[in-house]
Amino acid sequence: MSDFFRGKKCEICGKPATRGHFGRLLCDSDRCLCEARETRECIGKTMKKPEGTIGLDELVGKKK
Ligand SMILES: [Zn+2]
Repeated sequence: MSDFFRGKKCEICGKPATRGHFGRLLCDSDRCLCEARETRECIGKTMKKPEGTIGLDELVGKKK
């Protein structure tokens, strides 16, 4: 387990956190993962959409 999660708690159930998803700290439980996914009110602040789009040339691997 990463040191990053040491001492951190799951924001859903309060158990020791082992991972971060949807901008929240979560434990191993799938229930907490689902809960976080359904209540991700802060996702707009913590996640950005990629800027710009990948060009068609990059997708097909066109040589320069
Ligand atoms: Zn949990």
